Amino acid sequence: MTRLILMGPPGAGKGTQAVTLAERTGAAHISTGDIFRANVAAGTPLGVEAKRYMDAGEYVPDEITNGMVKDRLGQDDADAFILDGYPRTADQVERLDEMLAEIGHPLDAVIALTVDDEELVQRIVERGRTSGRTDDTEDVVRNRLKVYSAETEPLMAIYRQRGLLREVDGMGEIDEVAGRIDSALGIA
Ligand code: AMP
Repeated sequence: MTRLILMGPPGAGKGTQAVTLAERTGAAHISTGDIFRANVAAGTPLGVEAKRYMDAGEYVPDEITNGMVKDRLGQDDADAFILDGYPRTADQVERLDEMLAEIGHPLDAVIALTVDDEELVQRIVERGRTSGRTDDTEDVVRNRLKVYSAETEPLMAIYRQRGLLREVDGMGEIDEVAGRIDSALGIA
């Protein structure tokens, strides 16, 4: 079970869980948010373009995001992977299907972390005090949650229909949530 998508609203703990799950499984951790932030920090053209959207809490256009993921999945260490924060739109789901068909690596499961909305805003605003992320302010967070509900939440139905979706309660301590993820994947 090492070709996974980790889904969930901003602040659900995807990044934290993806890092330790990657350690436990040996899969590559592929976070589109981290790749964008690295590009922003390095001042690449991709970073300059992405920053406009990120700072507003909007999604970076699909074409840019899909191309970036395709490159990353083509690298040698990406036979096993945990996709963190991708796909987020219906177009990205389609393009990911094509990429995985091309490289012959079907998905094993989609983990969806669930956390209630007010808890999310609290967590992110708290994170913003130390993360230095320019998109962790309350206004931007509320917009990110809105965009998530409109664009990304509906994708769960697609993976549910395919029998791949495993919903995991994301409330509680980091280790507790990690344990629930392992149980959902049958690696506990
Ligand atoms: P994250 O770290 O996953 O919360 O992502 C931070 C920001 O990066 C998001 O609010 C978007 O602006 C952008 N981003 C990350 N992943 C994607 C994606 N799959 N599609 C579009 N934009 C993304």
